[in-house]
Amino acid sequence: MKIDLERCNGCGLCVKDCPVAAISLQDKKAVIGPSCVECHTCFRVCPRGAALDEPVPVAGAKECTHCPVGCRIPEGLTGACGRYKNQGHELVRSRPLLTYAEVAAEVGPEPELLIERPSITAIGAGGTYPDYVPAPYIVSHERDGVEVVTVVTEAPLSYSGLKVKIDTDLEVGEEGAPITFEGRTVGMVETEEYGSKMLAIGGVNRLTGRHGFAAARAVAAIANREAVRLKVKGGAKLELQVGQPPVIDGQLVEKMRVGCGSASAGLFATFFLDAADEVIVLDQHITSLFSHHAAGRCLGLAPGGVELCFQRSTPGRYFGTHGKGWGGTDLADPLDIVKQVDTGLTKPGSTLLITETTGQNAAMYVLGEDGKFAPTELSDKAQQAVAALAETCQRSLVSAVYVGGAGGSARAGVARYPLRLTHAVHAAKAVLTCGGAKVFVLPGGGITFYVDVEKVRSGAFTWVPTPATVAPIEYTMRLSDYEEMGGHLEAVKPFAAQEPVPWNRCK
Ligand code: SF4
Ligand code: SF4
Repeated sequence: MKIDLERCNGCGLCVKDCPVAAISLQDKKAVIGPSCVECHTCFRVCPRGAALDEPVPVAGAKECTHCPVGCRIPEGLTGACGRYKNQGHELVRSRPLLTYAEVAAEVGPEPELLIERPSITAIGAGGTYPDYVPAPYIVSHERDGVEVVTVVTEAPLSYSGLKVKIDTDLEVGEEGAPITFEGRTVGMVETEEYGSKMLAIGGVNRLTGRHGFAAARAVAAIANREAVRLKVKGGAKLELQVGQPPVIDGQLVEKMRVGCGSASAGLFATFFLDAADEVIVLDQHITSLFSHHAAGRCLGLAPGGVELCFQRSTPGRYFGTHGKGWGGTDLADPLDIVKQVDTGLTKPGSTLLITETTGQNAAMYVLGEDGKFAPTELSDKAQQAVAALAETCQRSLVSAVYVGGAGGSARAGVARYPLRLTHAVHAAKAVLTCGGAKVFVLPGGGITFYVDVEKVRSGAFTWVPTPATVAPIEYTMRLSDYEEMGGHLEAVKPFAAQEPVPWNRCK
């Protein structure tokens, strides 16, 4: 890499982002030092185009091929990720491989098998109020000679909401855009995850805000796997039902992409090699250009003369745009991805296959004498490549996790010293389940949990007009641990008891 000192204004962005601290500012100009590994971070981050993609050969540098970055690591130094170093002209891993035993302390304790499952669920248990009143069912029974207690309640949780995952390439709206249900704001678009759009519905500020009832109803309906219609402000109309494919702006989404365009190039490289002289996988995340991509080059291809209009990330990988076109990009005509063709490298008569990562749309072209691509039929090998992509794609689905904050009043019906319950949950001495389903308890304070709503009996979630959503919550633990946290021992009944704990709340 080189710095064009005329263009550099000393902003220092490259100094901050350089992963190997190879750049410093001298007299308000960037200077690249000898630990540069040519990772191109400065080239991509410089707002003035002052970092030039001009390699400076270093004697003894080794090219790393363990990821698309392709660092050239000088002798004795480490690559951009810190995982590989050039040691005596050999690339070696810079950290030892750890066994499970070596990390077990950080992973933390697992609950004993005998307290992993509740004896009864809280579905249908009802609740108690106010908070000092014991939970409606506290049952005990013996497992492997140990007395185990399960405490259950259908808890109203104002700290609650949903993370909804929609498997689709299609644009649903800007991250942060509000989402309405029956015309009222109940959530927002969250950061996109791999191949899926994410929505956040509910949350305490919406539940206790102006549109709290609508938010509570939306959360309960989605969590119970009912069909709902949502609208993203400035974005798409969504028809969603957990466990079913999404419908976005009236379009049923059937296939979830196998990965980004770059992953597709790697996974289906041997198909692409025979499919055409050049293959482009159009994708809104990473679009790939096969002959420039590591997969194509490893299979012996020389980089061709097709140049793409997207911004390059690393060789053969380009950041896509977002829209309603091919592969979730804004390109309605896939050929618009081609910026220009160097006919010295890609000769007339050469073929080009452009496909989406799902294989739902694909087109074939042949380069004319005028240096322009014209449409042609997909060859048999191209059809095989596209079919391989398509058959690897999973069914597109809507899924959701319910997020519940049970660390507040919802603890009180369990024990007289609620913080001891919180500590027991985090120490795996008390196991929290939701409708019998395993949950993930978030680290840090309180008891905030995630549960896959498809693991909970449909209809188990409801709402109360405080407003709050209501979730079935069970705590299971050894009787001795229950006693220690100030559990309501007077309310413990044998497992066989089917009547709620009688309690005169006003005595
Ligand atoms: S990011 Fe560009 S302009 Fe800023 S210091 Fe680095 S080279 Fe100069
Ligand atoms: S694996 Fe690490 S060292 Fe190797 S090319 Fe990638 S970032 Fe560089």
